[in-house]
Amino acid sequence: MSRGLKDGEEGQAQYRAPRVNLSLNDFNLEKRLGEGSFAQVVQVQQKETGRRYALKVVDKHLVLKHKQTEYISNERKLLDQFDYEGIVRLHFTFQDAASLYFGLELCPNGELYDQIQRKGRLSPEDSKFYGAEILLILEYLRQQGVIHRDLKPENLLLNAKGHLQLIDFGCAKRLALNQRSIAAAVSSSLQNSKRTASMVGTAEYLAPEVLRNEPVGYAADLWAFGCLLYHMLVGKPPFKGASEYLTFQLITDGEYSIPGNVPEAAQDLIRSLLAGEPSHRLGTGEKGLHDVKEHKFFAGIDWQNIRQQEAPSIA
Ligand code: ATP
Repeated sequence: MSRGLKDGEEGQAQYRAPRVNLSLNDFNLEKRLGEGSFAQVVQVQQKETGRRYALKVVDKHLVLKHKQTEYISNERKLLDQFDYEGIVRLHFTFQDAASLYFGLELCPNGELYDQIQRKGRLSPEDSKFYGAEILLILEYLRQQGVIHRDLKPENLLLNAKGHLQLIDFGCAKRLALNQRSIAAAVSSSLQNSKRTASMVGTAEYLAPEVLRNEPVGYAADLWAFGCLLYHMLVGKPPFKGASEYLTFQLITDGEYSIPGNVPEAAQDLIRSLLAGEPSHRLGTGEKGLHDVKEHKFFAGIDWQNIRQQEAPSIA
């Protein structure tokens, strides 16, 4: 068995999602759902129970070759500890000689990214609905002391009822207890992290402090949230150059423009999230994300019941 991924090597943590005595033979493979850098994701049906899952099949050889065992065990540990309907659930794990298998809750309606592509852009009403769901996910993560660091429409999936669920916690970081106060966490000291800026997150959504190699905290997710709101309303991300280098330049220069047909309240919110200086972003003050929830763009949102309400139609 490959080094670095044996049973027990993830420490003494008690996992909620059991490492079970299952094998691929226990499932019917139905269709391919997607793929990432080290994994394929397949829709499967468990023969014994008839239940469907998204099975993430992680290639051990690739993970070891690229020295990403930390990335994989990080995702497993974090997913296992979350208990919120806006975050995809990890039901079980197993492994064989070639792969690690993560049995994830199935999100059968694809990525938010595809919805934006198919619709061209989203209406202000739908953007407000999805924006509110994303904000509640960020609020939950903040309560858990976790920064996602790769928030983007490819990592937000639509569940059976069209509500959003966040995936992909490989880049996420749990802050130490003493870093969790809002002030400290706006620019928390993550310098111990061995990852370089280019390895954390996706070019178009990277916050300027990541590119400047400064400490990264909750405010980086707020920046990505601003990019997401823009992307939904306009149909493309705010910073997109002809190359990754040019995209980075646009981000560090804070160079973007919002089309005039975007409602004024949305424009105001986007600007207050895309502040170059992390501590100036809305949501980093004393009241935390309440300041974002109270912004006029979200007027009329029923924060208590949004996940029970009817979600936008799926294209
Ligand atoms: P990356 O290289 O971006 O880090 P990854 O290897 O961590 O990716 P994921 O992002 O977790 O892989 O999954 C890859 C794709 O598989 C997703 O973009 C999505 O389309 C699909 N997918 C992942 N999880 C699920 C799920 N629970 N239900 C349905 N589809 C899923």
